[in-house]
Amino acid sequence: MKNDCIFCAIGAGEIPCFKVYEDELVLSYLDINPFSEGHTLVIPKVHSEGLLDTDDATLAAVLARVKKIAAHLKTALPCDGFNILQNNGEAAGQTVKHLHFHIVPRYGSEPIVFENKKGDMDKLKALAERVRL
Ligand code: AMP
Ligand code: ZN
Repeated sequence: MKNDCIFCAIGAGEIPCFKVYEDELVLSYLDINPFSEGHTLVIPKVHSEGLLDTDDATLAAVLARVKKIAAHLKTALPCDGFNILQNNGEAAGQTVKHLHFHIVPRYGSEPIVFENKKGDMDKLKALAERVRL
């Protein structure tokens, strides 16, 4: 666990989150500033900063979880499609320096905009309870 890393603290259960899924390797929770309804993050519990400093075995295992969670959300939400986004470096828009995959649900012909909107905490809590895997 890295000091001052908010996603390490969430992964360790020290900071609450709107949990969607958890196992020994990953934690998945709703993004509190969602791009779209059901915007979900998947993090490994062990700290790495991004794609390039994560070992291949961990990366493969995390991606398998991303697939499992995305498949679940597609039917549980439901949504029509989803984008997987993973930012590396400030120039790419990475604000939290702990590897994370975004699962961004898509609905109908809504435009694809990657823009954070402040979430309603009560609605996020209810949504997490509804789609928890
Ligand atoms: P990135 O820009 O790829 O680093 O994405 C970081 C994401 O983490 C943003 O979409 C934030 O809204 C989200 N985020 C930051 N803090 C929290 C938190 N405590 N719980 C859930 N999502 C968070
Ligand atoms: Zn971390």
